[in-house]
Amino acid sequence: MPDHNLRPSPVVPTVDFDADGVQHGFLRLPYSRDDSAWGSVMIPIAVIRNGEGPTALLTGGNHGDEYEGPIALFDLARTLRPEEVRGRIIIVPAMNYPAFRAGTRTSPIDRGNLNRSFPGRPDGTVTEKIADYFTRNLLPLADIVLDFHSGGRTLDFVPFAAAHILPDKAQEARCFAAVAAFSAPYSMRMLEIDAVGMYDTTAEEMGKVFVTTELGGGGTARAETVRIAKRGVRNVLRHAGILDGVIERSESRWIDMPSDDCFLFAEEEGLIETCKDLGETVRAGEIVARIYPTGRTGSPPVEHRAALDGILAARHFPGLVKAGDCIAVVGTV
Ligand code: ZN
Repeated sequence: MPDHNLRPSPVVPTVDFDADGVQHGFLRLPYSRDDSAWGSVMIPIAVIRNGEGPTALLTGGNHGDEYEGPIALFDLARTLRPEEVRGRIIIVPAMNYPAFRAGTRTSPIDRGNLNRSFPGRPDGTVTEKIADYFTRNLLPLADIVLDFHSGGRTLDFVPFAAAHILPDKAQEARCFAAVAAFSAPYSMRMLEIDAVGMYDTTAEEMGKVFVTTELGGGGTARAETVRIAKRGVRNVLRHAGILDGVIERSESRWIDMPSDDCFLFAEEEGLIETCKDLGETVRAGEIVARIYPTGRTGSPPVEHRAALDGILAARHFPGLVKAGDCIAVVGTV
């Protein structure tokens, strides 16, 4: 391990992780700045514990413009009673709290993308300090980890829970069992296009059962996707044996992202015409989107075609695209 990892984290929790009952407190991260010389970032955290048992670590707001997770987790933290729990639930509804407050994917303090900042550094930027605290202080407490994502302001997804293809097949099976328990309308076997620095990877390398989601997007949350999030988190807690009761299962379609061929990227800027809606069947060779040059009339659009058969699992959300934007993801059924 590099030397900086020998330093303790500067983050101070105001909760006692070993105390029974419900605690609402903060992860206090010192951040000295112009408007607050000895100030701190105050990241809300709830701990609900009732005796011995497994620990679930539940997070939202890893990206600050994704809302189903924070809504479901602020609600869960407020409503769960300790007598319902066996073991411990740690809830951080807005992990990258500065980004969440700003309504942006990355932190306004250091532009840090938390889900590309793991394992983090105790002596790094604010975002790296958050990552380091999770890596060395919170993840080791957890048996099961659920990290909510949605598409944010620039993507929209069919609602799915997901886990990754892992080298340890027993661990992978435990992750997919938890995905199935979540019971989103879709369940995804995920291939990461950019796995370096992810919370997911850090948790998985520690052997944790890790479940993530993509529940919608566009920088907002819908009634349907919030319902899916609220039901899914309780289902995962029942699956882990932390909450009693029967898992509310509903039909879920399994989809895969087997290769880079699933992703369509813009090579030009322009006005995007989406030719398929989320969840619609797509055949290899079919046009998924057209991108119109906007400088003048009379120019033909660039056509983007699916490379494989499947469904439209994700799409670019705003009406204008830039070169390099992910414009669509086709998941295979
Ligand atoms: Zn995200």
